[in-house]
Amino acid sequence: MRRAKKALVIGGGVAGPVAAMALRQAGIGSVVYEAYAGGADDAGAFLTFASNGLDALRAIDAHHLVLAEGFPTPRMTIQSGTGKHLGDVPNGWTLPDGTVSQTLKRADLYRALRDEAVRRGARVEYGKRLVDAETTPDGVVAQFEDGTEAEGDLLVGADGIHSRTRRIIDPSAPGVRYIPVLNIGGYASDVRVQAEPGTFRMIFGKRAFFGYAVHPSGEIWWFANPPRADEPTRSELAAITTEKWREMLVGLFAEDDTPAVDIIRATPGKLAGWATYDLPSVPTWHMRSLVIIGDAAHATAPSSGQGASMAIEDAVVLARCLRDLPDTPQAFSAYERLRRARVERIVAHGARTSNSKAAGPVARVIRDLMMPVILKRVANGRSLAWMHDYHIDWQERVAILSE
Ligand SMILES: Cc1cc2nc3c(=O)[nH]c(=O)nc-3n(C[C@H](O)[C@H](O)[C@H](O)COP(=O)(O)OP(=O)(O)OC[C@H]3O[C@@H](n4cnc5c(N)ncnc54)[C@H](O)[C@@H]3O)c2cc1C
Repeated sequence: MRRAKKALVIGGGVAGPVAAMALRQAGIGSVVYEAYAGGADDAGAFLTFASNGLDALRAIDAHHLVLAEGFPTPRMTIQSGTGKHLGDVPNGWTLPDGTVSQTLKRADLYRALRDEAVRRGARVEYGKRLVDAETTPDGVVAQFEDGTEAEGDLLVGADGIHSRTRRIIDPSAPGVRYIPVLNIGGYASDVRVQAEPGTFRMIFGKRAFFGYAVHPSGEIWWFANPPRADEPTRSELAAITTEKWREMLVGLFAEDDTPAVDIIRATPGKLAGWATYDLPSVPTWHMRSLVIIGDAAHATAPSSGQGASMAIEDAVVLARCLRDLPDTPQAFSAYERLRRARVERIVAHGARTSNSKAAGPVARVIRDLMMPVILKRVANGRSLAWMHDYHIDWQERVAILSE
């Protein structure tokens, strides 16, 4: 198989546009195919973007996009629903130039990455849902739901947690695993709360988890994780009205000594919730000229705060491998070798932290007793250094795997 010149990138979320930019820097052109007409911008949601993700974006000189859209959130303070302070921990790491983790709206992140990928020469085609792909002696032909096809030297599946590419590579690939908490959030105004700038307040409430940070504008960005043992269907969640969500959330936080209820009541507009999933271990990441990156290959529960950063690290590492190794299969093997252990460790960490949010009454008492001890150990951030200290040196050449 010859050295690749043109990549078909499936998915215009986080990993896709970053892959397009990184591949271009490695001398490979890309077309990004996004299923939705204008991109899956999921307008309501925000995410915390870890410092290691910013460091990875710096390898392709794109970190400024996140810094321009986000606000710094380098710390977390943890408390119980009784108002008891349990501890303070860093939210990510401080990079040598002082850059820290940022919080930004998902729609702003997607838009900024896609616009920049286009500015750097990638083409983005919307309304192109991948349904199948066939490898050929020269590369790959992708087939889309609208009946069209596209040819390339390789195909990068950056099509998210429910990836079609994953199943094309391996029809028996595992599906997602349900994590027993829901996610919901919003933006509140005209409510006064106790909060330090740059700090996420995380509250293990009596019946549910609640987190909030204050945006420099004074707006409060919040999320909640109502426990939910059985997996809801999409239509079941979609049928819950804003009034019902509000009533449910107010009920869940009514007994806590926290501002959660005031914040929820001060949130205008629509509330919508979604289920939580992860994807602990996908046995096959690549096959001939097809490969998966980001959530398509490994998805972590949101509580790790690492999903977007993992997707970006994957994209940059993959591009380095394709730049340095003589052919596509060797590049894909090197990419997997460099990434698998790290991402699976992060997924396991995310599942542990998510499960602590859904603790029952006995586990809750133990958790609140143990938490200050555990938090003291992680307070200087070094116990999570393996997660945050990851650095990609773009200049360094990737070695050929000797077997
Ligand atoms: C509630 C919630 C909160 C989160 N909070 C955080 C956080 O605080 N910090 C963090 O780092 N991460 C967070 N994450 C995780 C983060 O959003 C993901 O890890 C990240 O978006 C993964 O990027 P991706 O590009 O792999 O997938 P996605 O961002 O999901 O992008 C996939 C893209 O592929 C498109 N697509 C799907 N199928 C096809 C197809 N067949 N053909 C063409 N296109 C297709 C989709 O429309 C989408 O645009 C959170 C996730 C959730 C659900």
